[in-house]
Amino acid sequence: TTHPKIALITGANKGIGRAAAEQLAALGMTVLIGARDPRRGEEAAAAVRARGGDAHAVTLDVTDPATAQAAAEQVEERFGRLDVLVNNAGITGSGQVTPLDAHDQIPSSVDLDMVRAVFETNVLGVIAVTNAMLPLLRRSPAPRIVNVSSAAGSLTLNSDPDGPFTALPASAAYSPSKSALNALTVQYANELRKDGILVNAADPGYVDTEINNHSGFLTTAQGAAILVRLATLGADGPTGGFFSENGPMPW
Ligand code: NDP
Repeated sequence: TTHPKIALITGANKGIGRAAAEQLAALGMTVLIGARDPRRGEEAAAAVRARGGDAHAVTLDVTDPATAQAAAEQVEERFGRLDVLVNNAGITGSGQVTPLDAHDQIPSSVDLDMVRAVFETNVLGVIAVTNAMLPLLRRSPAPRIVNVSSAAGSLTLNSDPDGPFTALPASAAYSPSKSALNALTVQYANELRKDGILVNAADPGYVDTEINNHSGFLTTAQGAAILVRLATLGADGPTGGFFSENGPMPW
């Protein structure tokens, strides 16, 4: 008998994370819907089950290490291991604005508490959840970690005078948080390479979700495709890379 793979996606109650959960479930994985609000997590898990998938809600606020630890204990009791971790939960700090309007991110006038909150979720949250889950991932025959980053974190694109970001307000919170996430991805990949744990960063593209007040042009299913691809890499797949559906992204 083959055992289904177990995948945990953080912030999977809506948006790209939820679409990734649906797709991983459709591939036959047991998906654990990480959500900071248990009710929203249960609703999303029920929706995936209604479409024939095996889904369970797991309460997980990535800024609260106690919930990450409790989630790891639940996964251990119920499944004994974890095969896929998708660190998807993220915030811009700007509320319901499009990136074009994110004047509250401008470096010279940014609110430090906002920067702190964004890094707490997008960077420290990933470390907390990853470290809580690593003992379980080490029990998988083919562990995969996907960090959901953004083109906005690309230093190459941000520093290109002809690049896509020169027309937008500079960002001291969201973009640097994703640059830091990319840096962490490389460091985790380097540590875990010898253990066969593949760690990669994903750029979903500009996706229609609440994070950008629905200004994105890709569907959540389209945005989730690269997460799923990196979550299902073969043993010869890359590690320490940064990819969109169109191929490698510049750091
Ligand atoms: P959404 O706002 O639709 O979803 C974000 C998810 O993260 C929600 O489930 C939210 O939960 C959850 N979340 C936020 N903070 C926490 C926390 N502290 N603990 C647990 N969960 C949390 O946005 P997207 O689906 O667009 O974003 C998903 C990822 O994709 C993010 O990392 C984002 O930066 C990245 N991304 C998105 C792009 C886009 O165009 N949409 C482009 C590039 C990257 P809740 O419902 O409780 O708020």
